[in-house]
Amino acid sequence: MTELRFTSEITVELIQQIGNDHVIACAARVSTGRDSEAVEPAADAGLIRFLMQNRHGTPFEHGSMTVRVHAPIKVWREWHRHRIGIALHEEGLDWSFNEESGRYKQLEPVFYLPPRDRLMIRPEGFRSARPAFDLANDEEYANTIGELKEGYEYAYRMYERMLHRGVDRGLARDVLGVGIYSACYCTANPRSIMHFLELRTNVPGAKRPSKPLYEIEVAARKLETLFMAHWPVTYMAWQENGRAAP
Ligand SMILES: Cc1cc2nc3c(=O)[nH]c(=O)nc-3n(C[C@H](O)[C@H](O)[C@H](O)COP(=O)(O)OP(=O)(O)OC[C@H]3O[C@@H](n4cnc5c(N)ncnc54)[C@H](O)[C@@H]3O)c2cc1C
Repeated sequence: MTELRFTSEITVELIQQIGNDHVIACAARVSTGRDSEAVEPAADAGLIRFLMQNRHGTPFEHGSMTVRVHAPIKVWREWHRHRIGIALHEEGLDWSFNEESGRYKQLEPVFYLPPRDRLMIRPEGFRSARPAFDLANDEEYANTIGELKEGYEYAYRMYERMLHRGVDRGLARDVLGVGIYSACYCTANPRSIMHFLELRTNVPGAKRPSKPLYEIEVAARKLETLFMAHWPVTYMAWQENGRAAP
């Protein structure tokens, strides 16, 4: 019997990054024909701040980042809702995704368990529109972990049993839930990344606050760290703009 692996880890690994803050500023300057002039970095920063505040969004589309994300399928259910990602010739404007196949390979027995500090208990007066959860006590946490493990074990046994009988992998997987992990390559431009981060993080003081699912926020925070490292000036301007994407 295959041993199941349980983890709380969600990883976001940089595969490739194209572009920088200066290219964004140059893309805006082409409108006045001054894109090839030498400028001080401070001039780029001022211009980028102006573009951000005044919703001149298109210069922020020049660049891209590709990441490999390993996350439970419930994260993919939400991430894949983000349509606008990058302009790539005839491929359209969508985020570009490539995901591990449940038809061509047996899905790895890797399942998500929430970390101890993940808020998960609905309080009195809970409202779905502004979801806020309490910390589980030790018993509540242990019960939840136990129930998740039991469900995962049972589902994966049924999955393997069907595979051993030669059932199509694309059908046998139907028994698995959304806590099983899947890997995906994701590519988008800086403008779309900011839009994604605005919706999938919950940061005090944000101009348009959001209440994302804990697990997609974990992934979004890691994506944000990569974004900040590669477009630091754009990142600061976005922060100063209340994390509102242009
Ligand atoms: C906290 C939270 C809760 C959610 N709950 C639910 C839920 O209960 N049920 C559910 O179905 N979804 C839910 N969603 C998903 C949500 O409705 C969006 O699908 C998702 O956030 C992607 O946002 P988006 O459409 O702005 O992004 P993108 O698809 O990347 O689009 C980016 C922007 O492009 C423009 N755009 C894209 N496509 C069109 C279009 N066809 N027409 C006009 N303008 C367009 C819009 O300005 C849009 O904001 C939730 C999202 C969040 C963050």
